[in-house]
Amino acid sequence: MKKANVGMFLLSLLFLSNFVFSQVPKPEDIIGFKVGEDRKVADMHQIVEYFNRLGESSERVTVKEVGKTTMGNPFIVAIITSEQNQNNLEKYQKYQQLLADPRKITDVEAEKIINDGKAIVMINCSIHASEIGASQMSMELAYNLATKNDPDTKEILNNVILLLVPMHNPDGIQMVVDWYKKNLGTRYEGGRMPWLYHKYVGHDNNRDWYMFTQVESRLTVEGIHNVWHPQIIVDMHQMGSRGARIFVPPFVDPYEPNIDPILEQEVGMMGTFIATELTAQGKAGVIHSTGFDAWTPARAYHHYHGGIRILTEVASVKLATPIEIKFDELAKNVIQRSVKIPLPWKGGKWTLRDIVDYDYSAAMAVLTNAARLRKNWLNNFYVIHKKAVTRKEPPFSYLILKNQRDLSTAVKMMNVLQIGGVEINKAEESFWADGSRYPEGTYIVYMAQPYGGFAKTLLERQVYPEIRDYPGAPLKTPYDVVAHTLPLLMGVDVVKVDSPFVVKSVLLNRVKKPKGTVEYAEHPFGYMWSHSTNDDIVALNRLIKKGYEVYWAAEDFKKGDSVNPAGTMIVKFKYGLVDDLQSIVKDLYVNFKELDNKPEIKVYELKPVKLGLYKSWTASMDEGWTRWVLEQYEFPYRSVYNKDIRKGNLNQNFDVIIFPDLRDITIVNGISDKFIPPEYSGGIGEVGVKNIKEFIEKGGSLITLNSCSEFPIKRFYLPVENSVRRLNRKKFFIPGSILKVLIDPNHPIAYGFKREGAIFYRRSPAFTVRKGKSVVKYPVHNPLLSGWINGDNYLYNKSALVDVPFGDGKIILIGFPVQYRGQAHGTFKFLFNSIYYGPAELKKM
Ligand SMILES: [Zn+2]
Repeated sequence: MKKANVGMFLLSLLFLSNFVFSQVPKPEDIIGFKVGEDRKVADMHQIVEYFNRLGESSERVTVKEVGKTTMGNPFIVAIITSEQNQNNLEKYQKYQQLLADPRKITDVEAEKIINDGKAIVMINCSIHASEIGASQMSMELAYNLATKNDPDTKEILNNVILLLVPMHNPDGIQMVVDWYKKNLGTRYEGGRMPWLYHKYVGHDNNRDWYMFTQVESRLTVEGIHNVWHPQIIVDMHQMGSRGARIFVPPFVDPYEPNIDPILEQEVGMMGTFIATELTAQGKAGVIHSTGFDAWTPARAYHHYHGGIRILTEVASVKLATPIEIKFDELAKNVIQRSVKIPLPWKGGKWTLRDIVDYDYSAAMAVLTNAARLRKNWLNNFYVIHKKAVTRKEPPFSYLILKNQRDLSTAVKMMNVLQIGGVEINKAEESFWADGSRYPEGTYIVYMAQPYGGFAKTLLERQVYPEIRDYPGAPLKTPYDVVAHTLPLLMGVDVVKVDSPFVVKSVLLNRVKKPKGTVEYAEHPFGYMWSHSTNDDIVALNRLIKKGYEVYWAAEDFKKGDSVNPAGTMIVKFKYGLVDDLQSIVKDLYVNFKELDNKPEIKVYELKPVKLGLYKSWTASMDEGWTRWVLEQYEFPYRSVYNKDIRKGNLNQNFDVIIFPDLRDITIVNGISDKFIPPEYSGGIGEVGVKNIKEFIEKGGSLITLNSCSEFPIKRFYLPVENSVRRLNRKKFFIPGSILKVLIDPNHPIAYGFKREGAIFYRRSPAFTVRKGKSVVKYPVHNPLLSGWINGDNYLYNKSALVDVPFGDGKIILIGFPVQYRGQAHGTFKFLFNSIYYGPAELKKM
């Protein structure tokens, strides 16, 4: 379309310079109303259509579908720059790739590129779908850049390549707009939606920037960021209504120490530039230097990849419904003039159009800054990477051992690093490092490489600083979680090496896991395999699904000279088994060994589990993550709703029900119909509590995750107490850290674990057990492995996971986020084992 129009385009330049531009549709031509009108929002389809039309009609805009979203919708990016730059996109892309890896160019070549290159800006709109203003604004921004010809716009177009993602979460935009339209004109107009605005992770889609579990994170990182290496990334959000009108950086302490200090300065510089521009335009209520820190890479991939990640947060309305706020209803920290907010807002009406205006001004300020300081941005980008590749200070490298308890999870961890651009080498000979000998095949992550800092922050243990406003002041508590050490979260063995060493090694493409094996056998009783990896569990799921008889050994047993520990999995031979095992080992790293005779031992006979996962109408992210993890590991399940539980007779449909991390009161009472339509209001009610109790007494199993243990403890008077429940934050606070635990590997829930392990701890209980089996507990010393802890003594010898018999059934309290954001691969198995353990029967084999 575009190329065919070149002739006509030139013609029109000569004779009718306005003709082509008049063909560029305005947003209202496509969506039918002006961007930002009260009670009007464009949905995902309209926004995609607008951008496609813009791409077809403007020589300054290229629209690309990067891929499909979680729910199969188009995920698009618009590349906006001058007509001339559009013809040289590949050249500028190449420039960026070279500046990002100074090993490939000389300083002289770099200087030429810096003179000739363009500043790359990425604007990411409405990652949180209900914060919808930026997605609407994006159309107006794109239209103006496509059509305006004033010197300021030209300056931007000539010096900047803008990568505009109009919707980071298109699925969510559609859901939120559908919900809004459905409730327009009712008392629920602009109110909350009873489900997550991302199929699995809701608001947590902005906590996925190092683990890349979700499709949209992968598309952004692999399809946009790693292709273009932007210097400037703007993430446009909204916040509550009663604070400032917009937050911009500087962020507050602490910055995570692996972030280059240049970026920290640039973040502050860009933030205050936006603040200045908005204030000069008379836009009141701009605040900076408050609230948000830059500690977790979960929100800031870019800070480890040479770019600044700016966050803007504009005050919300009720989606598109205007609100009125009186001055005395505003938060205390925004009403008085201060260095953080030199021009306070006076209150009054606040509309979607105001949000669009603030977002638009912020975007234009960023583009103006990028255009005018183009050379500084490119030069600093180069300097940051140059520092990274010439790094001298220890550590020299991290080693990832090939002899792992769970090798396929170790491979997953390496793949995560590789998606983040980290180079992984494999030793082609054995070698010495820091006084130890390592075999051929050991994986090596050198720190002196472009994204060595990204690798380092994910591989090392975090030490969160103690921050006080003044000496003797109370400790400042962190804004977000503070630990992200992947080897601890995933149960992978790594070694830090401080001193340089030399070894012949080869750079790997995507690390692949090895294939599993099936031992040959003449007439076996069956096959056995280990219980130590997550792949082992997937193999179990597949065999159960196919109807095989599968067991867990309930005691150690010998085969030849080797002892197989309790938990070893056994499948009884049946025609077709070997073929099925062969097909399993094609994609799972599982080693099936033949078992010639029946072992004379006690076993747990496993059954296909009718699994339910409680889904409340509070849009629980924990429920979403649980769903995601269950699906990844091939557990069939059904969602269980309030009405199902109120109806009762649960044993007919379920063997095991999981309750995700929800408060007791939320489960029982739900949300009032003041806030949500009646069909979604209320909880399981007292009758539901009774039905759950009956379900367990009749042999069902209830598994509660993290703080949800409060529900059975309180409602069923369990002989278990949460010892840290009443402690205030000053005494006891763990904001999201990794802790050491002691594990009883003879309990079926802990089969396959070692005696010591690591768990993620966040808003979690700690149990004192009067009756029941403590499966996982805290040591009698400080358990902190990574992050921050205050009041560690309150955890000493307390339980983290308890198996409580109840009637003919079981209540399993998993007192920590066992599936934490799809990252805690090292503890998933506690959940998986609990599911099978529920209905399993202990018997003689
Ligand atoms: Zn947000």
